[in-house]
Amino acid sequence: MPELVFFSGTMDCGKSTLALQIEHNRSARGLQGMIFSRDDRAGEGKLSSRLGLVTDAVEVEDGQDLFAYLVDHLSRGGRADYVIVDEAQFLAPEQIDQLARVVDDLGLDVYAFGITTDFRSKLFPGSQRLVELADRVEVLQVEALCWCGARATHNARTIGGVMVVEGAQVVVGDVTHSADEVGYEVLCRRHHRRRMTAATARAAALSPDVLPVTSA
Ligand SMILES: [Zn+2]
Repeated sequence: MPELVFFSGTMDCGKSTLALQIEHNRSARGLQGMIFSRDDRAGEGKLSSRLGLVTDAVEVEDGQDLFAYLVDHLSRGGRADYVIVDEAQFLAPEQIDQLARVVDDLGLDVYAFGITTDFRSKLFPGSQRLVELADRVEVLQVEALCWCGARATHNARTIGGVMVVEGAQVVVGDVTHSADEVGYEVLCRRHHRRRMTAATARAAALSPDVLPVTSA
C-alpha cells in the first residue's frame, strides 16, 4: 500500500540527508522520483543537506497544486515512481492534502521531510497538516545536540546570538555576518525555555558576576 510518511524533527537532525539517501537508494534500483522542495539553503530548485550533498528539485510555489502538477507530468509521459518533499513545513495545508491525494489516487509513496515546530515551539501549518494526514510519522533519531550536550528538541531563532521569541514564522537566515544577523540554533527544551543559547551561556560563564569566589 502506498503511504504518506512524515519524517519530522528539529533542524540539524539529518532530514535532508535522509531524503537524499532515500532518493539515492531508489534511483539505484532504477526508480525515478519527483522531488519537491521549498526555500532550500542551496537556493531555488535544490534539495541539499548540511553534509554538502545536493540534487535538483522542483521549487514549490505559493498556491501551486501538487496533485495537478503530478497528473500533468504523468499525462505528458513523464515518470514518477515516488515523491519526495523536503522543507515540507513551508507548504500550505492544502498542498499537504494534495500530497495525500497523490498517495490515494495515483498510488505513489510520498515521503515528506520537515521541521515540526517553529522558533516559538508552535507547529508549522504544513507540519500540523502532515501530522493529521500522514499514514506514518517518523521522528528522526539522528540526535541534534544542545550546547549543554542534551538532546536538542527545539528550534531557536537568534539575532546577534541572542534568542528571540517574536517575529514572522519564516525568516531565512542571513548569510552576511552583521551584528544583527538572524540565525537558528537547536536547543534542549530547558534552554529553549530559559532562552539560553550557546552565545549567551558563554557570555554568562565569562561574566565576573558568576565567577566562583576565590579566597585571597
Ligand atoms: Zn541544553
